[in-house]
Amino acid sequence: MAGLNLSNVKKSYGKVDIIKGVDLEIMHGEFVVFVGPSGCGKSTLLRMIAGLEDITDGTVAIGNKVVNDLQPKDRSIAMVFQSYALFPHMTVGENVGFGLKIAGEPKEQIASKVKEAARILKMENLLDRKPAELSGGQRQRVAIGRAIVRKPDVFLFDEPLSNLDAALRVNTRAEIAKLHRDLDATMIYVTHDQVEAMTLADRIVVLEAGKVRQYGAPLALYHKPDNKFVAGFIGSPKMNFVNVTVDTATSKSVTVSSRDISKIVVPVDGSSVSKGTILTLGIRPEHISVADGKSRTAKGTVELIERLGHQSYIETKLSTGESLSALIDGTTLVSVSDAISLGFAGDDCHLFLENGEALNKHKVPEVALVKKGKKAVH
Ligand code: ADP
Ligand code: MG
Repeated sequence: MAGLNLSNVKKSYGKVDIIKGVDLEIMHGEFVVFVGPSGCGKSTLLRMIAGLEDITDGTVAIGNKVVNDLQPKDRSIAMVFQSYALFPHMTVGENVGFGLKIAGEPKEQIASKVKEAARILKMENLLDRKPAELSGGQRQRVAIGRAIVRKPDVFLFDEPLSNLDAALRVNTRAEIAKLHRDLDATMIYVTHDQVEAMTLADRIVVLEAGKVRQYGAPLALYHKPDNKFVAGFIGSPKMNFVNVTVDTATSKSVTVSSRDISKIVVPVDGSSVSKGTILTLGIRPEHISVADGKSRTAKGTVELIERLGHQSYIETKLSTGESLSALIDGTTLVSVSDAISLGFAGDDCHLFLENGEALNKHKVPEVALVKKGKKAVH
C-alpha cells in the first residue's frame, strides 16, 4: 500500500496546456475522487499517474518513489476503465486471471487469486460464463476483479459506472465503497458526477480547465467552497447566484442587498470590501424557505414547481430577471405565477468577489472532518 505525491504536474499537447501545474498529496488508504466538467483533464491526470501518458513537467511519486520514468506495469497500479475491455472469447475466470497468466504466474496461484477476487466481488457463480452472458454491472465487476488479482498499491478508476443504468450505478457505487473498506487500498476515482464524488470520497479534488480549484472532504467543500466554481459544482440542486451591492462592511460582516433582496448580514472573516461594491451572493436551494411578508428576504414570482413528494423544488424569477430556486416543504401551497416571499439566513449565504474567490469563511462543521469515524481529513 502507498500514498501518492504529485508535484507541479503539467501536461501539454503541442502548444496546448491541458494540466497546468497540479500539486496533490494523497494518503495511504485514502479514497480520492477527481471531479470536474467534461474535458477539464481528469482522465489525462489519471493516465499520467498510471504511466499511460508522458508527464510534460513535474513529478509523480507513488509510495515515496518517483515513477515518472517507470512503465505502467512497474508502478504497482491497476486501472479500471469505463469500457470494460473484456476478451469476448474468454470466460470470466480467464479474463480475471489473464494479466497474471501474461506475467507468467503458476496456474494454481492464478486459480486461487481468481477465486479470492470472485469471493470478494460475489461472482463465484459467474466464473465459467462468457462476457456476452453478463449484464453491464457484472461485466464491470469482472473488470474490477481483474484489477484486484494484481494486488496493486493504488487502484485507478476512470468513470467506471458511466455505462450502467441509474439503479445499477447506485448499487455498484456501494460495492466499490465496500471494496475500498475491505481492501484498505489507496483509490483514485474519476467522475464528472458530483453525487458520486460526494458519496465515495474521503477527499475530493475539484478540477477546472487543468487546475485544482479545491481539495478537501466532501462536506468541507459543500459548506466552505473556496470559490464560485466549486460552490456551483458541488451540491444538487445547484447553488443560486445573484448580484448584490455592499451597503456596509466591517472585518466581521458585510451587509448586502439588491432590488429584490432586503438587507442581509453575512458573516465574513477579515474582509476589505467597500460600500457600493458589486458581489455575487450564493445561497443553496435547501437553505431557502417560503416566508411570510414580515420575515421575507427576497421576493419573486414562481415560474416552475416540481413536486418530489416530501419536498418541492420551485424556481422563482426576481424583477432583475435573475432566478432563485428553493427546495421547500412538499406540503407548502404554491402555484405557478404566485408572487411569493422567500426567506434565508445570512449565515447560510456565501459571497464571491468578481474574480470568483469566496469572501466569507464559513465554519466547517465537525462532521465534515471525520470520515468513517476514524480519520480526520481536511
Ligand atoms: P476529462 O477526462 O476531464 O473529460 P480529458 O483528460 O480526457 O478530460 O481531456 C482534457 C483535454 O485534453 C480535452 O480538451 C481533450 O480534448 C484534450 N486531449 C486529451 N487527449 C488528447 C490528445 N491525445 N491530444 C490532444 N488533446 C488531447
Ligand atoms: Mg475522462
